Amino acid sequence: MEDCIFCKIIKGEIPAKKFYEDELMIIIADIAPKAKKHYLAIPKKHFKFFSEMTEEDSVMLGKCIKKVSELAPSFGLEGGFRFVVNQGDDAIQTVPHLHMHLLGGQKLSEPDYNK
Ligand code: AMP
Ligand code: ZN
Repeated sequence: MEDCIFCKIIKGEIPAKKFYEDELMIIIADIAPKAKKHYLAIPKKHFKFFSEMTEEDSVMLGKCIKKVSELAPSFGLEGGFRFVVNQGDDAIQTVPHLHMHLLGGQKLSEPDYNK
């Protein structure tokens, strides 16, 4: 997608602090961290919603999640992490390219979703 900021990062057109890359995804530091450690695991395939996934995409995403769980301890997330995927307007998804937030490196508080 031409105007997608994450596609541009994947193509190397916009710089990012990259921690990992394979044929399926990249993992970068979030530019505005909301915890001591805040990474974004971004599948290289552009789509916005889980609901758009093909069977093949679901296998791909499963592999990404497995890899994320293997890498997490080496990213300073050995105490655990919160795994967040915002989907759509109510969740305030700001980038229309599916991505997984990994938050941790500290004891996280519970969000108050009514605020
Ligand atoms: P979401 O609101 O779930 O769509 O999350 C988008 C995330 O992307 C936010 O946490 C932003 O801080 C982050 N973000 C936006 N632009 C960049 C960028 N150029 N590099 C790294 N993270 C970014
Ligand atoms: Zn994209």
